[in-house]
Amino acid sequence: MSNMLVQRPTTRASAPKPQSILIVGCGIAGPVLASLLLRSPGPASSLPHITILERNPSFISSGQNIDIRGIGKQIIRLLDLEDEIKRSTTGEEGVQFVDENNRCWAEFAVDKSGKVETGTSDVEILRGRLAQIFLDKAERLSKDVQDRGGKGVEFIFEDSLESLHQDEGKAHVQLANGGERSFDLVVGADGLHSRTRKLAFGNEAEGCLKKLHMFAAFLSMPKEDEDGEWRSWFHAPGGVSIMLRPSGTKEKSTVLILLADKSGIIADQLAGSERSIPAQKKLVMSKLNRIGWQEQRLTKAVEAADDFYFDVTAQVNLAKWSHGRVVLLGDAGQVYLT
Ligand SMILES: Cc1cc2nc3c(=O)[nH]c(=O)nc-3n(C[C@H](O)[C@H](O)[C@H](O)COP(=O)(O)OP(=O)(O)OC[C@H]3O[C@@H](n4cnc5c(N)ncnc54)[C@H](O)[C@@H]3O)c2cc1C
Repeated sequence: MSNMLVQRPTTRASAPKPQSILIVGCGIAGPVLASLLLRSPGPASSLPHITILERNPSFISSGQNIDIRGIGKQIIRLLDLEDEIKRSTTGEEGVQFVDENNRCWAEFAVDKSGKVETGTSDVEILRGRLAQIFLDKAERLSKDVQDRGGKGVEFIFEDSLESLHQDEGKAHVQLANGGERSFDLVVGADGLHSRTRKLAFGNEAEGCLKKLHMFAAFLSMPKEDEDGEWRSWFHAPGGVSIMLRPSGTKEKSTVLILLADKSGIIADQLAGSERSIPAQKKLVMSKLNRIGWQEQRLTKAVEAADDFYFDVTAQVNLAKWSHGRVVLLGDAGQVYLT
């Protein structure tokens, strides 16, 4: 018998095609998801083809202090970003509750070991800096995947979802500037007022935003010596609560103004001009009237702020976070505060 090998026809299973994934929103959640997907095991050519769509010309660098806790810490560790993020923290020493004379009545120091969570986390960072770090990471990973023969991430700025429909094969989206595209999966990471949620969930999403009877204004202002590195938290009569916080820089302090609105008066006052910054500023300045603590300074700061951000605090209440080929992520799906 010949010992020649008999070549049998093989039925090699073809590798599954990489998934195409559209992530709507280049805020915090969008770039984090892209990075996690690009770290999936397997050859670069098998990794998903990711498109990130952001309606602004670039990522939004505004926003003030964000505390990273719990699962957030696990994620930054997973992305090897813990050291970089810890080098960029605001350095807040803790929280002091103050009265109109700036007298401290109670204080809670941060636990810098991170073992005990207090009002101040050991990882406090400005939102814009965090967004930049996550975007840089996604870009680095994308470049690495492309160098290894994969597709990486396609970034589309200054465009947004116009419409969305899905069939058994794909989710089809119409972009405002960029024509029609089809994807295996669409991820709505487009924040509290998610358009993806509205388009994909339709009537189901109607009324899913449970307002928590509170509005929040975020801004920064020039730092003064007495601001220090502690958060000062002042409660004024009439449901106004103000936090003055370090930013991690010598130049500015950050401010969070919370306005309680149990009666719905603020919502009524803003009706029709919810997205108008001059109207929002006017309302906040009226609430600062006669609060008795840093009044003039805060009023001027609100008027002058070019990083003023104002929104309702709300919670998204949906029975599920996915609808066919569309899934919600971050504030678009579940949020307790703005
Ligand atoms: C300007 C801003 C400032 C903030 N400041 C603070 C703060 O100081 N402290 C705090 O705790 N939280 C703040 N937040 C909220 C905080 O970022 C989120 O709670 C959290 O980080 C979850 O992020 P996210 O990615 O789900 O949503 P977001 O951070 O809101 O990001 C959503 C992204 O989607 C984009 N987007 C929205 N609609 C569309 C669309 N139709 N098409 C394409 N892109 C779209 C937005 O421009 C944004 O880049 C802020 C959010 C914003 C947008």
